[in-house]
Amino acid sequence: MHRERNAKVVATLGPASSSAQVIRALVEAGADLFRFNFSHGSHADHRARFDIVRAVEKEVGRPLGVLMDLQGPKLRVGTFAEGVVTLESGAHFRLDLDATPGDATRAPLLHPEIFAALRPGAALLIDDGRVHLEVVDCGADFAETRVVNGGEVSNRKGVNVPSVVLPISPLTEKDRADLAFGLELGVDWVALSFVQRAKDMAELRSLVGNRAAILAKLEKPSAIEDLKAIVEHSDAIMVARGDLGVELPPERVPGIQKRIIQCCRDAGRPVIVATHMLDSMVHAPVPTRAEASDVATAVYDGADAVMLSAESASGEYPVEAVTMMDRIIREVEGDPYYRRMMEASQPQPQKTSADAVCAALREVTRVLGIAATVTYTSSGYTSLRAARERPETPILGLTPHLHVARRLTLAWGVYPLLSADIHGVSDMIEHAKYAAVCNGFARGGDRLAIVAGIPFARPGTTNLLHLAHIERGEVLC
Ligand code: PGA
Ligand code: MN
Repeated sequence: MHRERNAKVVATLGPASSSAQVIRALVEAGADLFRFNFSHGSHADHRARFDIVRAVEKEVGRPLGVLMDLQGPKLRVGTFAEGVVTLESGAHFRLDLDATPGDATRAPLLHPEIFAALRPGAALLIDDGRVHLEVVDCGADFAETRVVNGGEVSNRKGVNVPSVVLPISPLTEKDRADLAFGLELGVDWVALSFVQRAKDMAELRSLVGNRAAILAKLEKPSAIEDLKAIVEHSDAIMVARGDLGVELPPERVPGIQKRIIQCCRDAGRPVIVATHMLDSMVHAPVPTRAEASDVATAVYDGADAVMLSAESASGEYPVEAVTMMDRIIREVEGDPYYRRMMEASQPQPQKTSADAVCAALREVTRVLGIAATVTYTSSGYTSLRAARERPETPILGLTPHLHVARRLTLAWGVYPLLSADIHGVSDMIEHAKYAAVCNGFARGGDRLAIVAGIPFARPGTTNLLHLAHIERGEVLC
């Protein structure tokens, strides 16, 4: 099953997508990678879905990625005596460390680290920003606030504190337990929520080691200020527009999305655009035209992947949502204007042999009209540098490591494949022709570009670009 598109589809699994039948249908409709959202569900739920994904992977004979998404330090208000209160705009409202259920004048906020970081003038946003409080006075265990935008607040609603960097670990106790579970299960990617600074990713890396690749979810204003360093410390990035759009005014999200995508393309790190992409498809079989346009914009910007959250996890039309993303991506990628956009936003090669070879590869695909590129990669690096060039023809990512093949499911234009170990250049060429023809990327008479590093199996040695011609009848599948 070979996909005729470059941008990838990430589908979140949940109650609406837990059966083997639905998960298989999602793959057939176009899902390349599955997100497991650890803000919801038990470990048993996740394990059951994980086992199904691995079984489906075997059936379809193509690597499927699994991304575990850690909840991170999601802050919440405490409870109310009546379960819910209505705050009037202009009123005063106090938050403190007293666990006694609250009322319309005060409520518990059992996070001392928030009070430690607050300053008068700081904003506290409750329930995805529906209620906005401004700090008037604060101390180590309280904050007096003025209600800027009133509304209902009920038990344990989420709290966002956009304007301050909170002195907290990026991983809660729950995250650490979830992470241990996920690594034991064998997830390919670990995503961390509410990353505030580059050292949060360094901390995650020290816990994960090389057992999985790591992804930073950008949803805090402080993360945007530290964008370049966070990208350098991460293997991939998510534009997490749900919380980002709460912590920042909505009008700032589109520009920041473009900035993040360009920064990731410069660094050669895969980037996912996430949240609310086809939101109305939670309850409807077709999206709004604005939503279709939103998915298309991410693809025109050169994002590696677009993501479904509730649409595939708990919506009524999970398979239709994946099908719709697949159709939008293919339509965009067939548009000549898309090619022009890719070329206009092309990052410069860095001064490495890998980038020089990959820049030459792009030129070769443009000038010669080759059928496909075959990259040999042991770490995934060569395929990612080739993908960074956004070449016009597909990239087959051949690797002897299944975990690398699974991680590459996220990368723009890369079709990962498991290969045997290669012994020498003629072996490499023969395998490349076989992989390209037998997976439907080329046939007799076509030309292939091959990118590799010699000596083989040593990461970071990309130094070879070979053009191969496939004779008619040469390859028998
Ligand atoms: P979430 O992250 O769905 O885990 O909150 C994505 C986002 O905030 O956009
Ligand atoms: Mn979020």
